[in-house]
Amino acid sequence: MPVQNLVVLGSTGSIGQSTLDVVARHPGRYRVWALAAGSRDAELCQQVLVHRPRHAVLADEAAAARLRNRLRDAGSDCEVHAGNAVMAQLVATAEVDTVMAAIVGAAGLVPTLAAVRAGKRVLLANKESLVMAGRLFMQAARNANATVLPIDSEHNAVFQCLPAGNAGLAGVRRILLTASGGPFRRASAEEIARATPAQAVAHPNWSMGRKISVDSATMMNKGLEVIEAHYLFGAEPARIDVVVHPQSVIHSLVEYVDGSVLAQLGSPDMRTPIAHALAWPERIDAGVDFLDLVARARLDFEAPDEARFPCLRLAREAMVAGGGAPAVLNAANEIAVEAFLEGHLSFPGIAGVIAETLAAFAPPPASDIDTLLALDVEARAHAARFCRLAGSAA
Ligand code: NAD
Ligand code: MG
Repeated sequence: MPVQNLVVLGSTGSIGQSTLDVVARHPGRYRVWALAAGSRDAELCQQVLVHRPRHAVLADEAAAARLRNRLRDAGSDCEVHAGNAVMAQLVATAEVDTVMAAIVGAAGLVPTLAAVRAGKRVLLANKESLVMAGRLFMQAARNANATVLPIDSEHNAVFQCLPAGNAGLAGVRRILLTASGGPFRRASAEEIARATPAQAVAHPNWSMGRKISVDSATMMNKGLEVIEAHYLFGAEPARIDVVVHPQSVIHSLVEYVDGSVLAQLGSPDMRTPIAHALAWPERIDAGVDFLDLVARARLDFEAPDEARFPCLRLAREAMVAGGGAPAVLNAANEIAVEAFLEGHLSFPGIAGVIAETLAAFAPPPASDIDTLLALDVEARAHAARFCRLAGSAA
């Protein structure tokens, strides 16, 4: 098999680093062709020196200038670029085979969509792009004959349990997404009301970036994932359920009409879904610990509690409303999570700001990407105002 040229968008993040770890185990299979990140020039410099890509991009201009100096001093001939627009151009280059889309948040939409439109093999970690623009995104993938492989552990598990080939959802009754329940699974409403950023980012099973860690604590992560599953697999909202499974050993399940339930299990380590998607339909070593069922001993399940975790309900409502509503939900969530992490908003205030933003205006239909990008900006402005109001009321 020829070596695959790979672009990693969001290479300095949690998923980006895990991707480079898997890739480094298989030097004959993958060549890192470009690395892209937000602003961390020192980390990106280290990655460039180890993985020797032809191109490196930072969204931040000043950080890109620092990276250029660092690499020149280190004698590297890697080309350094600045800005998200260059990322969208690079992923569409003819030499590129595979793009790992692991930028966090709405910033990932434009470069990820560019990879899809160029018909690449897209390993999708950036769930926010599907939440914002799911229908247009999947349509673009079909038009360009792109292969979209899910990295999110639940969706990767579902993908592995679905009928083989192009059978779609034939015989499938329900998709069951598992949720760990996050750090506040057992917390009372009073404890949740006082939750601090340090408590919220301390996930019991997974080590992840700060934004998705807070999303796991509010259970908005599961809400975003229900929307992601709806678009990715073309499943109606009523056929997607959530079950809380605190051990994070079963990564999700597919129930068939004959009563069979297929599940994918493994250690909670993102290198498994990353290796699966990199090699699909083959299998490669991911460097993970193999699952010891006897040591794990028990697997528990419980129903999600939408009273303590209202974000799950808000996400379902936005999905059912359709059009631009999921993009508004996503934008409000990003602003509210940032305000919470900076100490300007309480933990329950996150759901409050999202609910107020969704109620503030009727979003237009999601007819094209420019409309959605403008909606994202508008929803962020509304959400920021509700954050300020909530902050001054506190
Ligand atoms: P992270 O915060 O650790 O990393 C984010 C990466 O995005 C960094 O490399 C950062 O530099 C880059 N970035 C941020 N803004 C950017 C911009 N404007 N332009 C270019 N790059 C930018 O996040 P993460 O935990 O790795 O998550 C990445 C994505 O994967 C998210 O969408 C998340 O929901 C999804 N995901 C993560 C996990 C996980 O285990 N970490 C699991 C499932 C899905
Ligand atoms: Mg997930």
